[in-house]
Amino acid sequence: MYNIVAVSFGEIFLKGKNRGSFEHKLIEQIKFALKEYKDVVVYKEFGKVFIETPHLEDMDNIIEKTRKVFGIVAISPSIKTTTDPETIIEKTIELFKYLTEKQDIKTFKVNTKRSDKNFPISSMDFSAEVGGKILAQFQSVKVDVHNPDVEIYIDIKKNCYISSEKIKTAGGLPIGSGGRALLLLSGGIDSPVAGYMIAKRGVEINALYFHTYPFTSERANEKVKKLKEILEEYCGKFKLFSINILEVHKSIKEFCREDETTILARRFMMRIAEKIAHENNMDMLITGESLGQVASQTMKSMAVIENAIDMPILKPLVGMDKTEIMEISREIGTFETSILPYDDCCSVFAPKHPLINPRLDSIQRSESKLNVEELVEKAYSTLEIL
Ligand code: ATP
Ligand code: MG
Repeated sequence: MYNIVAVSFGEIFLKGKNRGSFEHKLIEQIKFALKEYKDVVVYKEFGKVFIETPHLEDMDNIIEKTRKVFGIVAISPSIKTTTDPETIIEKTIELFKYLTEKQDIKTFKVNTKRSDKNFPISSMDFSAEVGGKILAQFQSVKVDVHNPDVEIYIDIKKNCYISSEKIKTAGGLPIGSGGRALLLLSGGIDSPVAGYMIAKRGVEINALYFHTYPFTSERANEKVKKLKEILEEYCGKFKLFSINILEVHKSIKEFCREDETTILARRFMMRIAEKIAHENNMDMLITGESLGQVASQTMKSMAVIENAIDMPILKPLVGMDKTEIMEISREIGTFETSILPYDDCCSVFAPKHPLINPRLDSIQRSESKLNVEELVEKAYSTLEIL
């Protein structure tokens, strides 16, 4: 029945001088989300975006992918026709017949919007005319303008688009409208969800992954890459930086107390992340920390970790339970990949009895036995873009 997908953006977010650039980004992102579908054409017409494909069997999947792009407020499978009034009426009746076969319709309403004022009939008059034709053909239905079972939208632009359904989208703000941040992406359940939540508010994210190759496997790398690809369906294309922090761990093991390992390593991770963020024009870090989840996520631990840097760290999961985080993770499709068993650098070097209430002064004393700057530089020199 449908031969095109209509996409509406949230006008309120697109006001002002950035409108053009956000629209452009959104269109690029839709194209990126649909990259596996050949022959897809994405075009703009009077403020709305349309996705057209000769392969109508792909339509449902195209809608599924497009729904995930942040900043879209509505998606409607539509029928594209010319603006000839007779043709519009004919197609609308075809659509109405199709709908009555799918569901029990007692009441309906026709809603015409005329963006192209060259169309000879006013919106109100045309809605009334089409409504009359439907009443004449389908005797058991009535018009209800307040609470209809079905609302038919006739959107007259350069072409005419007829639809009856608005599909729920992921919401959020267009990526790029909220600045840039660096996600510390570990391969676990939490950090992909954290990245998703911040990206949803319009933030352009890039990700950083720490490994301790050869103590962590190549497969652990692949897992993080896979998570990045899933996140890209929502966030658009981004970079995945990787850093080898083996030397940092070795030094900590050699010179510091075992129970301080996690806190010390985290402080190094933050310093390196801050440096990468600065150099790539990103203003904040994002982590998947959730208060009380593990030893390094107590109030005291988080305070000591954050103390290592000046850059703010966003922790969108801080007040959430693990079950709530897992629910989102399933919804966005990262869960199955996150639970693959490959070792993370932190689990390889995790102490048996990590500190739960570290003290900043004693951590700083331990750190003074290390050459912090040199270790940061050494780790930084292993930077790769995966
Ligand atoms: P996750 O489920 O995201 O792995 P977690 O519950 O395992 O989190 P931690 O290991 O304490 O918790 O990590 C807390 C946060 O620190 C992670 O959410 C992530 O943002 C960051 N982080 C931890 N390990 C790494 C890593 N190897 N590379 C990049 N970031 C990491
Ligand atoms: Mg983890």
